[in-house]
Amino acid sequence: MELAVFSAKPYDKTFLHTERAAEINEGAGIRIVYHEFSLSLETVSLAYGAAAVCVFVNDDVSAPVLEALHAGGVRAVLLRCAGFNHVDLVVAARLGIFVANVPAYSPEAVAEFAVALVQTLNRNTHRAYNRVREGNFSLNGLLGRTLYGKTVGVVGTGRIGVAFARVMHGFGCRLLAYDPYPNDDFRRYGDYTELETLLAESDVVSLHCPLTESTRHIINEDTLGRMKKGAMLVNTSRGGLIRTRAVIAALKSKHLGGLALDVYEGESAFFYNDHSGTIIEDDELMRLTTFHNVLVCGHQAFFTEEALSEIADSTIRNLSDFAQNRPCKFALVQSLEDSDKSDAPPLARRDSIPVRI
Ligand code: NAD
Repeated sequence: MELAVFSAKPYDKTFLHTERAAEINEGAGIRIVYHEFSLSLETVSLAYGAAAVCVFVNDDVSAPVLEALHAGGVRAVLLRCAGFNHVDLVVAARLGIFVANVPAYSPEAVAEFAVALVQTLNRNTHRAYNRVREGNFSLNGLLGRTLYGKTVGVVGTGRIGVAFARVMHGFGCRLLAYDPYPNDDFRRYGDYTELETLLAESDVVSLHCPLTESTRHIINEDTLGRMKKGAMLVNTSRGGLIRTRAVIAALKSKHLGGLALDVYEGESAFFYNDHSGTIIEDDELMRLTTFHNVLVCGHQAFFTEEALSEIADSTIRNLSDFAQNRPCKFALVQSLEDSDKSDAPPLARRDSIPVRI
């Protein structure tokens, strides 16, 4: 069985390789073929003949690509990430293409990175690092705020949101959260409230909800206007949660006190590749990088050894489940064959939350 891995980087090859696959799959043959470029309509033909493709956050898994994959005999899409906003699950279900993700490879890795962004932006350690290297030990412009006792708002209290809340609670912060599906895990650290109240009262707002049609641009002119003046906004979830034009305006008016991004609306054109020798044509991204109180990272919150190892192992397990026609606990869409057997619909959703079938 062949697995075509798209957007493959050297570190992917270190963790996701044929020997590890054979080990997990009890010796059953999985041949892994790596493609360094992303999956798109232009590259999809390279997957023809493979049983499954393995993709990451910025690969194109829209309806036309899924149809082309299906025509080329591919029957499974394995996401080596948690978010699946870039996959047309309805079309996958119609075509009988199995889709599985890795929902919880290391929520702490992402949460810890969100905390790192808060700390860096708040205390300006990134600027201090550069100054000191040039012999500049001045503290002017590096003034931060003590986080102890501040209010932190968590939008989305799933695995990552709760892990983030746990750390910030340890800092002595007051935690508020908004989530249409509240859970008791968060209640140990703080209180649920309406989004409006969270925005009005929080000194730090951190986004941890998935990108869906209902959350796209959840941070816009209106919601930014409801935030406390001078508050900090952190996004380690998906770029599309924020309307970039609106945050630029809020930064210019000084209503927004700081912005830390690990994800960006237009990231697929740039992230994970070196563009240092080219002219970057995204004016909004470039404008963001000019603010002293904005930090942009290239979607690296997941990037720990532990997370990469877990992503690789879960991906192989998902593939094994698919190949051996076993129920897969991380399936977002079962193949039609499986769903025929289980009487379950190929795809079921409760609002924006996928229901495992
Ligand atoms: P999760 O499914 O465990 O939790 C998501 C939570 O968001 C759920 O509790 C859900 O009820 C809530 N939610 C849904 N709609 C909402 C809304 N309108 N407002 C507020 N909350 C809402 O997911 P997770 O594992 O915690 O991951 C969260 C997101 O983090 C993922 O969707 C993914 O996009 C992103 N992520 C980023 C990285 C990275 O490297 N930057 C890595 C992994 C995941």
